[in-house]
Amino acid sequence: MSPQKEQPYIGRFAPSPSGPLHFGSLVAALGSYLDARCNNGQWLMRMEDIDPPREKPGAADDILRTLEAFGFEWDGEVLYQSSRQAVYLETIYRLMADDHAYDCGCSRREVAEAELEGIEGTRYPGTCRTGAQADRENLAVRLHTDHPTPIAFKDRICGHVRQVVEDDIGDFIIRRSDGLFAYQLAAVVDDAYQGINQVVRGADLLISTPRQILLQHFLDLPTPTYAHLPLVPDEEGRKLSKQFAALPVSRERPLPALLEAYKFLGQPAFSQSPGSLQEFWEQATACWNSDRVPCNSRHTPLSEQG
Ligand code: GLU
Repeated sequence: MSPQKEQPYIGRFAPSPSGPLHFGSLVAALGSYLDARCNNGQWLMRMEDIDPPREKPGAADDILRTLEAFGFEWDGEVLYQSSRQAVYLETIYRLMADDHAYDCGCSRREVAEAELEGIEGTRYPGTCRTGAQADRENLAVRLHTDHPTPIAFKDRICGHVRQVVEDDIGDFIIRRSDGLFAYQLAAVVDDAYQGINQVVRGADLLISTPRQILLQHFLDLPTPTYAHLPLVPDEEGRKLSKQFAALPVSRERPLPALLEAYKFLGQPAFSQSPGSLQEFWEQATACWNSDRVPCNSRHTPLSEQG
């Protein structure tokens, strides 16, 4: 039997256009890019523009121009999630038809009053699982998170993660009552659509990954390999000195920011400091070692992690 051919690496960067590219997203862009390039992989670009109230006009273009100025080169066209609404809706219908999702008419206040704790705040008490309040207006759609086994996966950076989504998170919203589709749903649908098999992103999303894997199970979609990069702390986090935290991700001075992001990802200093962007990319791609990336997730513990 001939040895099985390895799947070609397909990675991505998926910013939300809620503002200009900041240092934290530069770290995610750099880690996902270097990991893809050093594995001869593709690096696709997806603009997660599905939440207009949180978006800034012009931010999507601004992010793309900044990435270009930094020397990032994505493969193919940018996928805009705003153009994918019909597919998300179809997916919701499918989940509902298969009894994996249901309409929910509960208000935020009602959910809060149930005082059920989850690791992301209040957990939904399941009131509408049986259609109790589905006659109300402006219904949201929730995923029925009941699943026979815990969700378990091995993150390339953070190790084993195991979660019972029903206990830790509860039935979560996949379509909001204002009609907008939730990030979890859109990300899963589009990771599959784009053929992504390697997801490299910030550790703030480690907590979302079991939910995404659960959705993949319900939709019969493949589960990519995940790697969650350390989070750049916010100002109160004080893990980076003020000087670095404030480092502007300015199109005019890409090299210092790239060097700082590279160092933040645990990569050793170059023997000779790159004098140009081209030198940086050559050296960084040649030296990238994902095993050196530290695990730091603010969202531990999940139900179990090790
Ligand atoms: N759009 C998300 C963000 O900007 C990233 C989503 C993902 O990588 O799955 O934080």
